[in-house]
Amino acid sequence: MREARKTLTRYTIESEHRHPGSTGDFSGLLNSVATAVKIISNQVGRGALVGALGSAGVENVQGEVQKKLDIISNEVMVGETEWSGHLAAMASEEMEDILPVPVSEQRGKYLLVFDPLDGSSNIDANITVGTIFSVLRSPDPAVPPRAEHFFQPGVKQVCAGFALYGASTMLVLTTGDGVDGFTLDRDIGAFILTHPQLRIPEDCGEFAINASNERFWEPPVRRYIQECLAGSTGPRGRDFNMRWIASLVAETYRILTRGGVFLYPKDNKEPEMPGRLRLLYECNPIAFIVEQAGGIASTGRERVMELQPSGLHERVPLIFGSRNEVARIEGYHRDQSDESGSSFDDSLFNSRSLFRIP
Ligand code: MN
Ligand code: MN
Repeated sequence: MREARKTLTRYTIESEHRHPGSTGDFSGLLNSVATAVKIISNQVGRGALVGALGSAGVENVQGEVQKKLDIISNEVMVGETEWSGHLAAMASEEMEDILPVPVSEQRGKYLLVFDPLDGSSNIDANITVGTIFSVLRSPDPAVPPRAEHFFQPGVKQVCAGFALYGASTMLVLTTGDGVDGFTLDRDIGAFILTHPQLRIPEDCGEFAINASNERFWEPPVRRYIQECLAGSTGPRGRDFNMRWIASLVAETYRILTRGGVFLYPKDNKEPEMPGRLRLLYECNPIAFIVEQAGGIASTGRERVMELQPSGLHERVPLIFGSRNEVARIEGYHRDQSDESGSSFDDSLFNSRSLFRIP
């Protein structure tokens, strides 16, 4: 007999059957997100053949150059989900304000927030990019949606996920019951459950950080990286590898499959900017997935998912990955705030700096 392959559609309907009284809204919403992801995957995959690469010649609300594919992906996410009847409003990296579902469409009880194309600065180099999304409940579906409705801490997320447009197209999802990974079968146009219950190993030997910012780092981050670089000759007593793709979805998926730690920490490069990555549509969904896979997601000082958002495009520091490593980095931040506990000599760092020849 043919072995049954579990499609995303079957997966969502079966999870609904396990929750009696559920209305089907949620699997309907997930299926429309999955359709959007398939369309974006197709556009990204065709690249130059459909003239989709390159800059659109405009900037988004955050002063970043928009790629043509940023705009296409945003339009696809909006177009495929707004009519579904499950959403009250959405918010996106590429839109300054929230987008309430048009009154001509039926409004639902969920809010959708997304980064339509993460890692898009890499798109012309054919590096893996993705789509990140998070689903919240509308606090009051009876009133017209407002931006403040989205200002919910990450612990309130109903679902979070990301798609990866890499060698294969994948969808990684959590609804608070572990993390499951699906691979797009292009022959039949369906996502198939291929990576059930992903778990991040508790220990790891790989770190990912943008080392060009080294001189702006705070002492706890300098200490952690210095100790990794010292390898078997330092306090850690073992060697580490470094990775940096500069594509959050690709880094997250690598960490989900073989462990590791990712840092985009607070630094003093632009003191008015507390972090680089956006809380609502990057850090919170990634944090939900990482925690559900047994890892930790932190700013170094607080759990990401407990932060109270105050703006749609707010940025925060993000450090996540293998449990024991992130716990160690959090410990170094605590040591710093409690000076008496700090034994780290920052001056040593200059002699062991990443690119300094000994
Ligand atoms: Mn992004
Ligand atoms: Mn983006």
